[in-house]
Amino acid sequence: MNLIPPVFISHGSPMLLLERGRAGPAWQALAQELPRPRAILAVSAHWNARAPAVSAALQPETIHDFYGFPQPLYELDYPAPGAPGLAAEVAGLVPGIHIDRERGLDHGAWSPLRAMYPTTDIPVVQLAVMPQASAGDHHRLGRMLQPLTRRGILVLASGGLTHNLRDMVADAADGEVLPYVGEFRDWFAAALERRDVPALLDWRRQAPHAARAHPSPEHLLPLYVALGAAGEDAVARTAYRDSQLGALALDALVFAAKAA
Ligand code: ZN
Repeated sequence: MNLIPPVFISHGSPMLLLERGRAGPAWQALAQELPRPRAILAVSAHWNARAPAVSAALQPETIHDFYGFPQPLYELDYPAPGAPGLAAEVAGLVPGIHIDRERGLDHGAWSPLRAMYPTTDIPVVQLAVMPQASAGDHHRLGRMLQPLTRRGILVLASGGLTHNLRDMVADAADGEVLPYVGEFRDWFAAALERRDVPALLDWRRQAPHAARAHPSPEHLLPLYVALGAAGEDAVARTAYRDSQLGALALDALVFAAKAA
């Protein structure tokens, strides 16, 4: 079976569900250039756990895990089937992982998925991130999951390349970023370009404005699962670059195998 490159998507504000702007078509185009997966493992910044966890609901409910947004947002859903079999495969690769049979899909997963796979017919399970664990821990977790990329599974990591909600600028134009956001993003792009995994894993110390770009790490950690799942030879390609509200980089990355 073809390899499916892991993907990292910066999902931005939940408002992107109602007003897709440029992101929706870009996410859909990204999905269309990938081989069609048999199931999706969505690593969401919005499911936080202390230890590795995977969801295994048969029919995951849509979780509206956002507050104070317009009512129409709460009426959207993403009724894709679950994939208990994929959860079992994940458990086979990650010994001791907690299997959560109740967990539904949070907006970290279903916001990009509604644009990528609007027909909701591809089964989805979620993988939690562990805010108390390191980038290295998430990279190791991704490496354990690498075999899935050869078994028809899309590893869809969903977070944000920068994510400081206090810095959001209400009237910032799309694509316009605060200077520190641009510096942080450029550092990341350069480290990915030279495949400098040690520097990437040490982002908190080495990336400029790391603490400001991520007051808490949960939106960046999914990226490390994708990076690990991609394997050592993978090359990151920026599939989409944009921003929202000045502070939310919307970069999307595809971790494709190096061209022979
Ligand atoms: Zn988020």
